[in-house]
Amino acid sequence: MARFLNSTPPSGLERVTRRRLFLACLALSGLIYFLRGRRAGIKSTLSQAEAGGNLREMGQEEESAYFLNETSWRAPVVWGDSDASERRREEQSYRTFKTGLVAFVVGRYSQHLLRFLVSAERHFLLGESVVYYILTDNLRAVPDLELPEGRVLRPVHVGEMPEWRRLSRVRMSILAEVIRDRIQREVEYVFCMDVDQEFVNPVGTEILGDLVATLHPEFCGMPLYTFPYEKAEVSQALVEEGEGDFYYTSELYGGLCAEVYAMAVTCSHLILQDAEAGFHALHYEESYVNRYLINRRPTCVLSPEYSWWDSPRTLEVPVQRVVSVGRQCAALEPQKRADRRC
Ligand code: UDP
Repeated sequence: MARFLNSTPPSGLERVTRRRLFLACLALSGLIYFLRGRRAGIKSTLSQAEAGGNLREMGQEEESAYFLNETSWRAPVVWGDSDASERRREEQSYRTFKTGLVAFVVGRYSQHLLRFLVSAERHFLLGESVVYYILTDNLRAVPDLELPEGRVLRPVHVGEMPEWRRLSRVRMSILAEVIRDRIQREVEYVFCMDVDQEFVNPVGTEILGDLVATLHPEFCGMPLYTFPYEKAEVSQALVEEGEGDFYYTSELYGGLCAEVYAMAVTCSHLILQDAEAGFHALHYEESYVNRYLINRRPTCVLSPEYSWWDSPRTLEVPVQRVVSVGRQCAALEPQKRADRRC
């Protein structure tokens, strides 16, 4: 520094060192400017994503930065390890409530039940009161599990539904009926899940809300026009161009009994109307659930951490909490299915 203050011209070696120093500073400030610009880009793309903007066009690196915390209508988007989820769990810890977990187990799906229940006992709302409602055509397929205090297994006989297409037509009306006649008297919250899923990490009270839906891991962060909403004009599940916010999975949804009941009743009416017209939506209940959730937006949106499976199209998540064994198997090439015990 003293050198700069006195006017003696620098030697040749000093000039080279100073030039190098200057170039290094220039490169460093360029790098900082570039990185700040990218961060701003990611931030603005996050708000675009709320309006159905495309995140995946940004490339793999930015895609992993997808961490939307709130929807445009101010519903939380739940990531289990976030500070907001920590706060939600803390708030819920002062309340006492019961939660029902409903799963249909008809025909060969009984093979998934034990894994589903055992994994739920390891990870689902630990320390809380939970009633498992297993809606089944075969009561003997329900294992006799010894559960801790406050956790109960309630098999409910729903009659025989030999064929999947038929089951998909009546599942929502059966769900509405069981909530009305039984579940709403016994618990405050009810969640519905496909039984061919496994809990692999904690799912706590951060998931509670009036009406809860889960982002589909293959369409999270994708543009609106790619969502597989029902497009047939004849269908009651039709979603017109430009409508919609997110694409939700039917693997997990829930909320207060009254809200889930209202959704199940509405969807079952839409399914019935379509059936009368000889039509059934492409993605079964998922199409009707998505139609419903456009009109009545969820108050709590679970990130794909809560419904994840390994496929080239799924978004990477910080923590996988619920894995859909069924959808993962469907996404695998035939030779890999045996390795994963599909
Ligand atoms: N299901 C069932 N028996 C059947 C078909 C379906 O019990 O024959 C129930 C089961 O809980 C299953 C859910 O319905 O997890 C959804 O079915 P599937 O996994 O075939 O649908 P996807 O996940 O492909 O929508």
